[in-house]
Amino acid sequence: MTVLASDGAALAARSTRAWETDIVATIGGTPLVALDRLFPPERFQVYAKCERFNPGGSIKDRAAKSMIEHAIRTGKLVPGVSTVVESSSGNLGIALAQLCNFYRLNLICVVDPRTTAQNAAIMRAYGARVEVVERDPATGEFLPARINRVRALLESVPDAYWPNQYANEYNARAHHSTMREICEALPGGPDYLFLAAGTCGTLRGCAEFIRDNGLDTRVVAVDAVGSVIFGPPEPWERSHRRTIPGHGAAVVPPLLQPGLADRVLKVTDFDCVRGCRQLLAQESILAGGSSGAVMAALLSSSSWIEPGATCVAVLPDGGDRYLDTIYSDQWVEAHFQHLEHPQSHDDQERSAS
Ligand code: PMP
Repeated sequence: MTVLASDGAALAARSTRAWETDIVATIGGTPLVALDRLFPPERFQVYAKCERFNPGGSIKDRAAKSMIEHAIRTGKLVPGVSTVVESSSGNLGIALAQLCNFYRLNLICVVDPRTTAQNAAIMRAYGARVEVVERDPATGEFLPARINRVRALLESVPDAYWPNQYANEYNARAHHSTMREICEALPGGPDYLFLAAGTCGTLRGCAEFIRDNGLDTRVVAVDAVGSVIFGPPEPWERSHRRTIPGHGAAVVPPLLQPGLADRVLKVTDFDCVRGCRQLLAQESILAGGSSGAVMAALLSSSSWIEPGATCVAVLPDGGDRYLDTIYSDQWVEAHFQHLEHPQSHDDQERSAS
């Protein structure tokens, strides 16, 4: 284990010996797996970039590493002294908790009640302080309430620093590596890249890499019904209350720029549940809610994806963080009882026998 200097030279102190790697060096390099059962390759080929294989369990490890290491390099964060304050729906909080513990930084993570007890417990295990806020009374949304609390903490906590994932360029830059890895596996890049949009860090970083390298890959951004990222929701969307964290946002992220996505597809929470359960049933991949969103978008796109095309779906996290929601038949029934029930594990066993 690398010994950290307390004068802010933490980055320089990290080992560069390839054979003696530390946990932060294991971020990235996630596997790309074929989804041939869900998408028969005779039509078009789909690969999944499985981001749960990051040490913190999600794609947000990349963003946390990029933002924290940049802040240390530029003196905004001083190991042993500074406190990181951030708003997160869960995954960035866990990723930051891991990074802050590694670099001897304090962390206060502002979450909302959609953050599971397990996620909060993981953050605390890494040494973070977790604060839970309720919906903003003016908008009925969680995000403005979380941001208000972050601003208050920045005023009151000494040496506090807010990475601000929604506006931090280093959140986006982290995903140059995501796209580079995809292109190393599929030279020239895939024809289509399907990804979930939240802060738009993944979208912006991958789209920048595609542009800068002159690739022909077209980007399909998957957003939540009711989200405002790519424009005001249609009137019918307003009754859809989002319960699955990760993709979608109640504000337009400053990281978003015009033209990053070639196509935007919006999915409901129920689509996410169905997508997750199909991925589990067919491919034995236990994935998180936004992965279900990406699967639902891909499954609804078979009419326009040309035969022989290659698609990559970015799966941001694993399903073990959603056992009490997406993978709980009780939760699904309570939230979507007016809709057709997605295939449960019991149903799968029944239909297979
Ligand atoms: N899915 C999950 C599970 C996430 O945690 C996030 C990050 N909020 C996203 C999708 C969206 O990624 P990004 O913030 O890079 O747009």
